[in-house]
Amino acid sequence: MLHKNTLLFAAFSAALWCGISPLAQAEIVTSIKPLGFIASAVADGVTKTAVLLPDGASEHDYALRPSDIKRLQNAELVIWTGPEMEAFMIRPVARLPAQKKLALVTLDTVKPLLIKGDAAGDREHGHDHEKSDADHHHGDYNMHLWLSPEIARLSAVAIHQKLVELMPENKNKLDANLQRFEAELAKSDRMLANKLSPLKGKGYYVFHDAYGYYEQHFGLTPLGHFTVNPEIQPGAQRLHEIRTQLVEHKAVCVFAEPQFRPAVIEAVARGTRVRMGTLDPLGTAIPLGKDSYTQFLTQLAHQYASCLKGE
Ligand SMILES: [Zn+2]
Repeated sequence: MLHKNTLLFAAFSAALWCGISPLAQAEIVTSIKPLGFIASAVADGVTKTAVLLPDGASEHDYALRPSDIKRLQNAELVIWTGPEMEAFMIRPVARLPAQKKLALVTLDTVKPLLIKGDAAGDREHGHDHEKSDADHHHGDYNMHLWLSPEIARLSAVAIHQKLVELMPENKNKLDANLQRFEAELAKSDRMLANKLSPLKGKGYYVFHDAYGYYEQHFGLTPLGHFTVNPEIQPGAQRLHEIRTQLVEHKAVCVFAEPQFRPAVIEAVARGTRVRMGTLDPLGTAIPLGKDSYTQFLTQLAHQYASCLKGE
C-alpha cells in the first residue's frame, strides 16, 4: 500500500518536474456534461474526457476562465453543441484547427432532426419578457440536442469518426466502443419507452424549455414552460399567472431543476394540488464513463415518472 502510494507520488513529482501538469495532457474536452457522457463512452480506454462547465453552471451563460481557454487550446478534440448554445465558446473554438473540433449542430446527419424551440410558450399569456427568456431562444431551433437519444447516437458516430482520424492506431478499440454504445442505447431506449408510455396524456409544466427532444421521442405531453429565475421568488402577479395556468390546464406536475431554491418551488405550488418534481437536464451527479449516457436518460425517466405517476 505504502509502496504504491510512494510510486504514485514519484510519478506525479516527475510530471511536475518536467513541467507537465496532468491537466496539460491531451484529452477530449466537451462543453457540457451530457456531451462528456457520449464522448467518454466512445473514447473509453483510449483517451480521457473532461467537461468544461463545472457542475451547477448553466449551459446558457458561462464565463470561461483563463484555465478553460488553455484547456481548449490543449485539447485533442473539442466537442460542443454549437454557437447558438455555448456562445461563450465561439471565440476560442474559432482558433482551433478543423480536425480538432466538432459542433454537433453542424452535422449533416443531425440537421434534419432539429426541432423548433417553443419560443412562443409563455409569452402568449402576457408574461413580461425577462432577459433570461430572450437569452433562451437559441435561434429558431431547440439546441438541447443531447436530450435526443437519436442525436446522441449520431453524435457518437461522428465522435468515433473524428477519433479514428486523429488516432488511427486505436481504431479497433474505438469501433468496439461505438458498437457497445449503440447496443446499450438501443436497449435502454426500449426499456424507457415502456416505462414512460403510461405517462402519455399527463399534463405538466417545466421551468426550462429544454426537454423537447426527449418529450417528443418518448411521447410525453408537456403543457408548456414558465421562465422563472431559480434563485428569485417570482412576484405576486407572476405567481398568480402560473397558478392559474396550472389549475386551468389541469397540470399534474410542475418540474423545477436542481439549482432551484426550495422557497421558489414552494411559492409556485402553494395553494394548488399540483405536485413538484425535479428534472436534471445536465446529469449533474453522474460521473463520466461508458454507461453514463444511458444512466442519464434513465435518471430523467425516473424523474418524470416519480412525479407524474403519483397516486
Ligand atoms: Zn437550456
